[in-house]
Amino acid sequence: MQSLIVDVPDFPIPGITFKDFSKVWSDAALCKKMLVAMSDSIRLSGTTVDYVMGVESRGFIFGMAMAMELGVPFVPVRKKGKLPGATVEASFALEYGQATIECQSAAIGKQGRVLIHDDVLATGGTAAAAASVVQKLGGEVIGYSFLMELGFLRGGQRLSDQTPDAFIHSLISIDS
Ligand code: AMP
Repeated sequence: MQSLIVDVPDFPIPGITFKDFSKVWSDAALCKKMLVAMSDSIRLSGTTVDYVMGVESRGFIFGMAMAMELGVPFVPVRKKGKLPGATVEASFALEYGQATIECQSAAIGKQGRVLIHDDVLATGGTAAAAASVVQKLGGEVIGYSFLMELGFLRGGQRLSDQTPDAFIHSLISIDS
């Protein structure tokens, strides 16, 4: 898998090395293995998951698939202004830029146990904002699932500070 993730220097802005998963997405057999690995790590731990929350937009790719594997609802967290009806939102700073994400208020029941999924964990701002949305709705973040963790940016620490009881699972973790 790692050999198929392409480093794109200075994208989308100078100084950022973008992790391009396009070649991974195009390998169906590999994606199936990744899906089974991520879903099994949840299933085999015996942890109860009520919802899988995927973060727009690359968190939707495996997020929905994991929800189907685990047999639970998929909850999309989207950029502000994309979802109709009552919503809750959280703002955060990205590795590049600033953003607000939101989720429909009715999407998660009180005490709902939520697994948050995204492709990359960088500074942790995005996933922490998704966790804030879950918490505002009265749900519980039971864990995080990422394809890749950029360990040198210490996003895992940020998530542990906000949700100390939640596990963090990353298929790949790199330190530089
Ligand atoms: P962060 O909030 O800093 O943890 O950034 C995570 C979010 O930004 C995820 O939704 C990623 O898709 C995206 N992202 C951040 N850094 C990168 C990177 N180096 N390569 C690809 N995506 C990234």
